Amino acid sequence: MSRRKLIAGNWKMNKTAAEGVALIKEIKAQFTECGSSKCCANAPEILVCPPFTTLAAVLAEAQGCSCMKVGAQNVHWAEKGAFTGEISAAMLKEMGIEYVLTGHSERRQYFGETDESVNQRTKAALSAGLSVIICVGETETERNKQVTNAVLERQVRWGLSDITAEQMKNIVIAYEPVWAIGTGKTASDADAQAAHAFIRNLLKQMFSCPCVADNTRLLYGGSMNAANAAGLLAQADIDGGLIGGAALKAADFATIIRAAM
Ligand code: PEP
Repeated sequence: MSRRKLIAGNWKMNKTAAEGVALIKEIKAQFTECGSSKCCANAPEILVCPPFTTLAAVLAEAQGCSCMKVGAQNVHWAEKGAFTGEISAAMLKEMGIEYVLTGHSERRQYFGETDESVNQRTKAALSAGLSVIICVGETETERNKQVTNAVLERQVRWGLSDITAEQMKNIVIAYEPVWAIGTGKTASDADAQAAHAFIRNLLKQMFSCPCVADNTRLLYGGSMNAANAAGLLAQADIDGGLIGGAALKAADFATIIRAAM
């Protein structure tokens, strides 16, 4: 089964528009395949997810790299209305955004995101024609209680409720153990593979067509960096990475992209 790898950078609340453009320029300089046809043929899909205010500038700069796409970090579930401070899927789509993250653990932890709202946001994004990276993962306490698989099953089943096999073509799932995000602790290659295999097996149970489990890309996230990316990306069920800290360093991000080639 060939699934094109996806290397996605989550910039979180970092980079003004000017800083974001500078970072994209640096990534392009580090990853020189960007401007050539080799980029599309051999490279993974590359995605950067800057803050909302930086999206337009980054989108314009990223157009010089044919395999680089731009995503947002969040989206509201309603089409429009009295939701001060929120951004709709249509607003993102209109500006040329292709992906959005939903359910990132920082949104769940600090902004009250629930499995239900993750599902609503995901469905709204799909309806507007965006692709979605749904983030799931257990906390350290849950891991210590050995309930990781139960947590993943709940988050995946809820996150994907009412989503059809056809819509799954535009869904990516990121397994991000919360204890590994921004901590410098990474799941071992074997533990990460086991969690990804669990999720893939769950997709087999949830969808009658085996095509869903076979074709859905599963990303690892949690302190992936230039040193550990190759080992993680070599695992059978890991189809890429969702990268925070290391995505803000052009050389490291380019090294991770190359590890996926
Ligand atoms: C993330 O924010 O999704 C993430 C994985 O962050 P980091 O790589 O810094 O752990």
